Order: sequence, then structure tokens, then C-alpha cells
Amino acid sequence: MQAKTITVVIDENGNSTIDLSGFHDNSCAKVAEISAAATASRRNTGRLLITRVPGVRNSNRRAGRRRVMLLHASTAASRANGPGLRAVVWFQGCSLQCANCFNPATHPFEGRHVPTSEVAEAVFQATATQPIDGITFSGGEPMQQAADLLELIEEFRNRDRRLSFGLFTGYTERELGSGRYFCVSREAGEQRRNLWYRIRERLDFAVMGRYNQHRPASAPLCSSGNQRLRLFNSRYEMRDFAPLQMEITIADSGLVHLTGFPILGNPL
Ligand code: SF4
Repeated sequence: MQAKTITVVIDENGNSTIDLSGFHDNSCAKVAEISAAATASRRNTGRLLITRVPGVRNSNRRAGRRRVMLLHASTAASRANGPGLRAVVWFQGCSLQCANCFNPATHPFEGRHVPTSEVAEAVFQATATQPIDGITFSGGEPMQQAADLLELIEEFRNRDRRLSFGLFTGYTERELGSGRYFCVSREAGEQRRNLWYRIRERLDFAVMGRYNQHRPASAPLCSSGNQRLRLFNSRYEMRDFAPLQMEITIADSGLVHLTGFPILGNPL
């Protein structure tokens, strides 16, 4: 049995709308329980992913000639992380220290090192029966593994040229454009600038800027009011981006993932 994903949209009055198509029996009861908790809570905690990844230490940045990335998690089907149905890859590691970050478990630069080709292959296998519109990269901070991010995008592009690409980054466009960001593989400033421009050429959109808990957001995909959604080409328009929403995925193992924007609070 495949994992199923539903979208819970919670409006400013606390009313929730749930699409339960494809869910049966106990899954419906679990979803209703989670949704009720989500509706009852009103604390703004920003963008959210709750997942747990067993820690495995491996300091190699390359496996043979293959590039490896620090991976937090991935999901094959999300509608809360950009236009259409999208796979999401969460990078592990972030040093930006935004206060009250939605997912501190992604901060340490330790965990699973996975070849970028394997990450791409796993996503393609998981989406084989459910075609996706694109991939969104999140974290953690993907730009702190910029060379791996670029190679991962190329892995996806080589498999399917129709895919679109989106990025969540805590850096502003000015910081990235001037190379003023940290890379865990220690590229020099000019290399960092070039990496960003090569990544940007391949991106369709990015949400940019630190999370600021004191500036509530209402713009699509933005966790706080200072962040900006940038479109890098004409593929999408602002109206293609849905209002902030939250998703719950229940795997056949019973593991529940939450992702998206719980504007009224963390339901767990
Ligand atoms: S950039 Fe993102 S992951 Fe990093 S501390 Fe800020 S909110 Fe958290």
C-alpha cells in the first residue's frame, strides 16, 4: 500500500477543509483527530515539517566519483510546497539560527549522506505511478550544500526535462548573488557566486529570506512577512501559488508526516 497525502486548509477563522478522497477506515479517524487539534491551536509556528531520520555518521562528500548530499527527508507528493503536485527534498544542515525555527532537527550537519543520483532515483521510483509537476528543495538550508543542490537538479533534469524546480532558502537574493553565504564544502566566494547563478538559471521559483517569528505571513509559501517569493521565468504566475496550507501524510507503517504552513499552530 502506498502512503497517501491529504491537504488540510485552515482559514483565518479556524475552519478547516479536508479532502479525504482515497482514505478509508482508521485513516479517516486519525485525520479527523489531527485536523481537530490543528483547528483548536492558534499559535503561529511558521513552515513545518515533522519527521525523524535515524542518524548515521558518514563524513564522505563523495562516494567514488558520485557526489553525496546530507539528506533529511523526501516526499513524493505534496501540494503545499509549490504549484501542482510536487516531490520535496529536505536537505539536512542549517547554520542560520532563525529564532523559533519550525524544524530544528534539520540544523546539525550530520546524518545520512546519500549520492545525489540515488536521491533522484528514489524520487523517480516513488513518483512513477503518480506524475509530478516538479521538485521543491527545502531544509535545513539547501544553499549551504550548493554544489550538491546543483548536481541534484541536474540529475532530475537529465531524467525529465519537463520538471519545474523551486527552492526555500533562508538567504536573500542579495546575499546569494554576492556569494555571502556559507557552504559546508567550503567553496570560495567567487565559486559560491557562480554556484548561485547556475542554480538560479535552473530554478522556476524561490522563497527567500530568514524566518522572522515576529512578522506573520500571508503571502503564498512565505513563513514570515519579510520573505519573498521570486519567480525566475514565465513558467508560473503568482496566481499559480495556493494560499498557505498544511498537509498530513499517513504511511502504511502508521508514520504521520506534517508539512506546509500551520498558520494556526502545530496540531501535535
Ligand atoms: S533558514 Fe530555515 S531551517 Fe535554517 S534556521 Fe532559518 S527557518 Fe530554520
